[in-house]
Amino acid sequence: MKADEKGTILLIDDEPVIIDFLRAILEAEYALFYATDPFDGLALARAKQPDLILLDIAMPEADGYHLCRTLKSDVLTQSIPIIFITALTSPDDETRGLEAGAVDYIAKPINTSVVKARVGNHMELKKQRDFLETLASVDALTGIPNRRGFDDYLDREWRRAARTGTPLSLLMIDIDHFKSYNDNHGHLTGDDCLKAVAQHLTNVPRRGGDLVARFGGEEFMAVLPDTPFDSLRFMAEKFRSNVEAARISHGSSPVSEVVTVSVGAATVVPVHQCSPLVLIEKADQMLYLAKCQGRNRVVAEVLSVDPCDMRDAMSASAYPEK
Ligand code: GH3
Ligand code: MG
Ligand code: MG
Repeated sequence: MKADEKGTILLIDDEPVIIDFLRAILEAEYALFYATDPFDGLALARAKQPDLILLDIAMPEADGYHLCRTLKSDVLTQSIPIIFITALTSPDDETRGLEAGAVDYIAKPINTSVVKARVGNHMELKKQRDFLETLASVDALTGIPNRRGFDDYLDREWRRAARTGTPLSLLMIDIDHFKSYNDNHGHLTGDDCLKAVAQHLTNVPRRGGDLVARFGGEEFMAVLPDTPFDSLRFMAEKFRSNVEAARISHGSSPVSEVVTVSVGAATVVPVHQCSPLVLIEKADQMLYLAKCQGRNRVVAEVLSVDPCDMRDAMSASAYPEK
């Protein structure tokens, strides 16, 4: 949630009258979603990724404690704060709720000002946490996502592609002879060059779901979800040629008078049993070949992963099917 955005809240309560009451209190300030049973609640939480969940404890199909634990053990929903709304307010009930992972408690009968104040406080905390998360995932020099942002994104897209059976493509992009660029122009001009290359990589026209990140040093990554091999080759060439076309003078590269990049790329249809590390490794091998074959070029290959091949697999429980 950004500072200027309306926060979103998911209300889960089997009594429509409670939902109506909460809606009347909260709808002016927040965007609301509702569910009257825990199964719809879980599906909505996963799909909508609300900033906050208000959860009833006593529901006929499954109790709120159980749903709370499920939400807290699911990577898609575990960071969403949950407030219990309940008539069960003994110290034992409260402890049980907090131990299940809730951040707070609101007692029924509901008091309008208490709900507004508690929800307001937790929204503010969520906003601050989201801001810090964003900062932690951005590279300070280039302003694009950093290694952490890349890892999180690749992990998420890997799971999504495994679920939908769609191809996922990855490009590893490395500046050619960058050490001699630094030696020639100095480290600060080297930093400017990194910023410019990041800019020319992110300038490439691409789809909303594509991510370009700084992997480290003078290496970048592009994650292209739902992208088959032919499109990957086309995109990889676009990234390469866009940097070359920027005509940043190099001065000491045996490859070209301007700054160039080599690209190693791979496409895979992921499976849950394998870690995305196999795709990074493959792109790295392709990059190595691009360097060996003369640099300023793309080398790409399809990677096939065999779910039964446990050499490549991490434990299935580390990448559970969602
Ligand atoms: P190759 O074509 O094989 O990739 O050669 P290279 O010189 O680009 O590769 P090498 O790994 O030998 O050198 C990478 C250089 O990138 C060395 C390092 O000083 C520079 N570098 C890494 N991070 C930064 C940075 O943040 N700023 C600057 N200016 N230079 C950096
Ligand atoms: Mg390099
Ligand atoms: Mg390198």
